[in-house]
Amino acid sequence: MAIDSKLPKATTPPAEPSNFLRQIIDSDLASGRYQGRTNRAGANIPAIITRFPPEPNGYLHIGHAKSICLNFGLAADYSLLPGGARCNMRLDDTNPTKEDVEYADSILDAVQWLGFNWNAQGKEHLYHASDYFDRLYEFAELLIESGKAYVDSQSADAIHTNRGNFNQAGTPSPFRDRSPAENLQLFREMRDGKFADGMHVLRLKIDMAHPNIVMRDPVIYRIRHVEHHRTGNTWCIYPLYDFTHCISDALENVSHSICTLEFENNRPLYDWILNALKELGVFTEPLPHQHEFARLNLTHTLTSKRKLLQLVEEKKVDGWDDPRMPTIVGIRRRGYTPESIRLFCERIGVAKADSWIDMSTLEGALRDDLDAKAPRAIAVLKPLKLVIENMDPGASEICSAPRHPHHPDWGRREFPFTRELWIEADDFMVEPVKGFFRLYPPIGDQPGSRVRLRYGFVIECTGFELDANGEVKQVHARYFPDSKSGTPGSDNYKVKGNIHWVSAQHALAAEVRLYEHLFTDPHPDSGEKNFLDYLNPHSKEVITAYLEPSMVDALAESRFQFERHGYFVVDTVDSKPGKPIFNRAVGLKDSWK
Ligand code: ATP
Ligand code: MG
Repeated sequence: MAIDSKLPKATTPPAEPSNFLRQIIDSDLASGRYQGRTNRAGANIPAIITRFPPEPNGYLHIGHAKSICLNFGLAADYSLLPGGARCNMRLDDTNPTKEDVEYADSILDAVQWLGFNWNAQGKEHLYHASDYFDRLYEFAELLIESGKAYVDSQSADAIHTNRGNFNQAGTPSPFRDRSPAENLQLFREMRDGKFADGMHVLRLKIDMAHPNIVMRDPVIYRIRHVEHHRTGNTWCIYPLYDFTHCISDALENVSHSICTLEFENNRPLYDWILNALKELGVFTEPLPHQHEFARLNLTHTLTSKRKLLQLVEEKKVDGWDDPRMPTIVGIRRRGYTPESIRLFCERIGVAKADSWIDMSTLEGALRDDLDAKAPRAIAVLKPLKLVIENMDPGASEICSAPRHPHHPDWGRREFPFTRELWIEADDFMVEPVKGFFRLYPPIGDQPGSRVRLRYGFVIECTGFELDANGEVKQVHARYFPDSKSGTPGSDNYKVKGNIHWVSAQHALAAEVRLYEHLFTDPHPDSGEKNFLDYLNPHSKEVITAYLEPSMVDALAESRFQFERHGYFVVDTVDSKPGKPIFNRAVGLKDSWK
């Protein structure tokens, strides 16, 4: 999917001056802990460096958008202050897998589409954890030499069991007291491919009785005879996340390493590794610090890459970019704008305690963004034929409507009024309920109702016809030729109902896809639930709708408000020139509740 390079630069937060991360950064700047400086090579290092470090093992989702807006948004704001700031883009590709390239590309696309980039001071700050494999290896040897790491030859199961649990201290490995020389030799042999996967691992020597299990001699390297998509077969040992992450941060001079709360228990290890390397003269202050925030949980959807992958693989959805998916490619195809996602992230803010955000907050942000910028159009989604009895079959009257009610400068669109029209089936009732001001037929000696055909004429219902099943087949009416909208005297007609319509002869018949929440349950994967049990069978409905004729030229990814219905986007994947297909992005009101 192409990247939209014309997007304005993100204008993120000042809306939220008091979020706790800003307070931390402000006080770190005030205390002088982080300052703008130059490194040995003479390059500028801004005071504040954040990073966004996804693992390229899936498509990014709306939860990642929160992290992107936060990290890039903070950098954008603080870049204007003395000392400066930037956000690094880092693909955390320590785990060798096959599909990484497709995922990596989509990640970079997603970040750019959201309106961010990793350029600062004329340089691209796009990094890969795999770029650091040499350094990481070098640091591992240093830790071994200083007695802070050892090669363990227990099985994976034994290592797991001997870690103990919350109530019970771990059991030290029988290999824990190998000498540095022996460890070094074994580690080098691991690197040189002398051993099969799983025969040995490298562990830090911290404390097997530590109350935090993460600190019980964590594994930092394992043998995996797997090709890496960037480093090929150079390595058959790969560093683990906890070791890689903090070192990558330090190598990039990150100041604030912002991640989600599930990493809170890993923070002592993050600090332990960096301090150990500081003592060994590798790093100097100021070291990066990890700060945790609450992940985004959104109702009626999922924010777990693994489960999203399952939906794709089991064909519960039509791919990663299915407009029902919470992936960035999915919500983009659904019609979301980058501005609406940034607005959403601004509104939900950042907190330290987990909570759920209602899907309606996301939808509200889209409505608020599109209201001012989506041109209006007419679409009849559930068509019912209306025959204007006093209009000649070949005749037509040109009507027009503004492209946008608040942008007269956008001009007007024209569409013909003819004898046969399509109206919404719901705008007619044979027996009107109380308060129904739209079309209904004469009842007894009462005439039929009068309504205005929006941007057209006032009509009066004269009758209707049923089909063999007793369903209304078509409605009849007569129109008042002197009632045309915008003409002098048209206001003399006082009507309560106002309905939309298109000429049956001129309408564009188009495929429209109506989307609803993917899950019926607001929390489909909480507790013991199996999310697959809560898939909404009505999450996608495909209809043929009748659109005003000008829509034939609608371009891919252009967004419209179909009056009285909601916001729709021209599908980027399946539309053809002259044959647009529309996705409903969001209704006009929150109809779910
Ligand atoms: P996995 O489930 O594979 O661990 P992940 O969802 O944690 O993946 P990463 O690629 O590791 O994905 O995430 C990149 C960054 O996005 C991390 O800093 C992570 O904390 C953040 N992130 C992931 N999910 C959310 C979420 N729901 N809300 C906010 N931030 C998130
Ligand atoms: Mg992760």
